[in-house]
Amino acid sequence: MKLIEIPKEFHSDATGEPFDRCVSCGRDLRDPSVHYFIEKAVRNYSRHRTTDTIFEYAICFDCYMEVHKSLSEESRERIDAYFLRNVNMLARIRLLGETATPDMDRWLSRCLIKGVDRCETSEYQIMCECLGDRMLLTFAPYLVSAEAMDEIAGLLSNRTLDALNGFYDDFIGMPPELLPLLKDQPHLIL
Ligand SMILES: [Zn+2]
Repeated sequence: MKLIEIPKEFHSDATGEPFDRCVSCGRDLRDPSVHYFIEKAVRNYSRHRTTDTIFEYAICFDCYMEVHKSLSEESRERIDAYFLRNVNMLARIRLLGETATPDMDRWLSRCLIKGVDRCETSEYQIMCECLGDRMLLTFAPYLVSAEAMDEIAGLLSNRTLDALNGFYDDFIGMPPELLPLLKDQPHLIL
């Protein structure tokens, strides 16, 4: 498994620095033994060729597992099946394996599910997996367009949506302005 420096795109847009705290438990993410995920949602303003970050956070693996447990089994199975059906894993691994020096454009230029160019979707989410100050190159990082996020939202049961919203309410240290953005919408980190 390859480890690389965390690219700027996955730094916090709020601070311009790498994420250093888990949004939920506050754990220090610079500790090289800490495994965590970063998620960002971005809105495209194609006419102005600019983007705006809607929300961003880093969450450690332990806290992520808490979120994951709150999903109903039914929702989890549907999401797994959706990814299996829509993502050509082999083609992706081949594409990513071709480059000796990882070029983030290749990993993030298109929606993992729909193949649509990142510039041609109204919104997208990106996620990656990190270990301390390094990013892991696995299946992630990847980008998912608004169109695919809507489909993923449709796979979640009401019970799961309620549980997720409850979890966000309980997020300790979650900045209050982030809460309304996180609720009632799907996330890549499920
Ligand atoms: Zn945590």
